[in-house]
Amino acid sequence: MGWTLMIHGGAGSMRPGVLTEAEDQGARVGLTAALEAGAAILRDGGSALDAVEAAVRVLEDDPHFNAGRGSVYTWEGRIECDAAIMDGRGREAGAIAGVTATRHPVSLARAVMTQSPHVLLSSAGADAFSAHIGQEQVAQDWFATPERRRQLDEIKAHPDMPFDSAMKYGTVGAVAVDEAGHVAAATSTGGLTAKRWGRIGDSPLIGAGTYADDRAAAISCTGSGEHYIRLGLAHELCARLRLTDAGLDATADAMVDELTALGGKGGFITVTPKGEARWAFNTPGMYRGVVGQERPLKVAIYDED
Ligand code: ASP
Repeated sequence: MGWTLMIHGGAGSMRPGVLTEAEDQGARVGLTAALEAGAAILRDGGSALDAVEAAVRVLEDDPHFNAGRGSVYTWEGRIECDAAIMDGRGREAGAIAGVTATRHPVSLARAVMTQSPHVLLSSAGADAFSAHIGQEQVAQDWFATPERRRQLDEIKAHPDMPFDSAMKYGTVGAVAVDEAGHVAAATSTGGLTAKRWGRIGDSPLIGAGTYADDRAAAISCTGSGEHYIRLGLAHELCARLRLTDAGLDATADAMVDELTALGGKGGFITVTPKGEARWAFNTPGMYRGVVGQERPLKVAIYDED
């Protein structure tokens, strides 16, 4: 089936008419640019790992999405980014949480994987590692957008607002299978608006929001992170693919059912070494896109897209 790249830009309450025309079009342009960046690598015989990093870097720079520039604010009005990357070849992984000054958190996660003996670094230590190894540093102002400030003010005024009604934009992620049949996954996020007390979501937790295993699949999740952590959703999807005969479609549906049963909201994207690709979500919409050697480039936002 050749190479395939799938991306997401978050799941939430997006319905036609809820987004402005400018938001809708802006997100589609951003998703297309991210797909093109990753596809250029895969088309040249590059690795799934390089492709997912490249796609996520584009989305991190795009203020339409809650990652890098355009990240949501914490309760205190700061930006704290989480990200992870995983290589299905040897299940090597790197992740960072609560990082405040790195322009491309996904690349810092990759550096944790390749330039440190660890898998997950957090907060001040991760910031120090980032500066020490020469990752591009930016001021907090660089991440800031007026729309995220408005969302923080809104949620502070209505603290019981349900997850998906508060959320129109989210986390970003990419999964890919390359020509050689290796898979990789990456996820990057500002987390949840008004998060407090050093809260860390599922995105940087290997096995919760991000996982890649050449024996099964690569998966990147978006949604109410606490539920994904409780489910160990990303790893469980891969474990079910390895240990049962259910196949990708049934397994993806079963994982959405598990999420729904716990009261969780969101979705995920997944590809297998065989080249199967699937997205699934229980919210009204999910920013998403796919392109492959035998798949025309497609971006979508709403359920019915
Ligand atoms: N899953 C992310 C988190 O809980 C949020 C999102 O997907 O938008 O941090």
